[in-house]
Amino acid sequence: MNIVALAGGVGGAKLADGLAQLLPPEALTIIVNTGDDFEHLGLTISPDVDTVCYTLAGLANPETGWGRADETFEALENVRALGGPDWFRLGDKDLATHLERTRRLKAGQTLTQITRDFCQAWGVRHTILPMSDDPVQTMVDTVEFGELPFQEYFVRRKCEPKVKGFRFAGIESARPTPEVREALERADAIVICPSNPWVSIDPILAVLQLRSTVHCPPSIIAVSPIIGGQTVKGPAAKMYAEMGITPSALAIAEHYKNLLTGFILDTTDAHLAKDVQPVNVQTCVTNSLMKSQTDRRRLAQDVLNFIQTL
Ligand code: GDP
Repeated sequence: MNIVALAGGVGGAKLADGLAQLLPPEALTIIVNTGDDFEHLGLTISPDVDTVCYTLAGLANPETGWGRADETFEALENVRALGGPDWFRLGDKDLATHLERTRRLKAGQTLTQITRDFCQAWGVRHTILPMSDDPVQTMVDTVEFGELPFQEYFVRRKCEPKVKGFRFAGIESARPTPEVREALERADAIVICPSNPWVSIDPILAVLQLRSTVHCPPSIIAVSPIIGGQTVKGPAAKMYAEMGITPSALAIAEHYKNLLTGFILDTTDAHLAKDVQPVNVQTCVTNSLMKSQTDRRRLAQDVLNFIQTL
């Protein structure tokens, strides 16, 4: 069975890691959001791609979920001492990734090639693909400050501004890469990982245009990133509430309603399963909270078992 997983950062990376522990490299491709990518200190930074790569490589910081384990921040502290910006936390090891990526991009390599080479160097055997090699920039429209580039909203302003909407700048000219198209063509199932629907998954879906890109549509299942009306981490629930939608697993099913074949919700939300719309979406209720490596593997196994039943 060939699986394509769509992932943002922390939540997506955990399930992608679980799937990678169960599936051989040729059976899993992870397509990652690049709408969060930005230029900072003269470097090109791809936060979600790096989070997924570091997680699968076993290099991620287990406390934060982003950045590298056993990290130091000497370079950033010295940048600050010189009056430079230090609001985006870049560790010394992590900086090496951005330095080398930026050098290669300037030399004409694509983000897809660079990610493949980095994965090889880090011992990641499953394929991790940026959603596109064309630039897409997620903009968050806020009540207080108007439109903010994603990292200004997310990191610098700590998700405090009230959200009105989102725009993916550059989306009209962004194309899925040949590698992404090929993975989608071969997929028996697409798994939408428990990532933020607004800012992690919607940019991927906007680039992929699954309905027109994939000739023989595979099963598409999503795992709810909202458990008991709350996010495990990050602003997804706050975003739903600010946009006038009650945050819940139902809101997630509604968000993806035209795509889904199956939907996985947490045991906490078992009572909502019967209300998942549209009615022909099959549901699976399971413990979807991934606190440990065992949890990642267990949820991934539940996902694979569920796919078999569709
Ligand atoms: P970000 O780019 O780092 O914010 O990461 P993502 O978009 O991939 O993930 C954020 C979403 O993942 C949030 O909505 C979280 O609620 C969700 N999430 C994180 N950990 C888990 C988990 O263990 N289980 C589930 N079901 N969702 C999770």
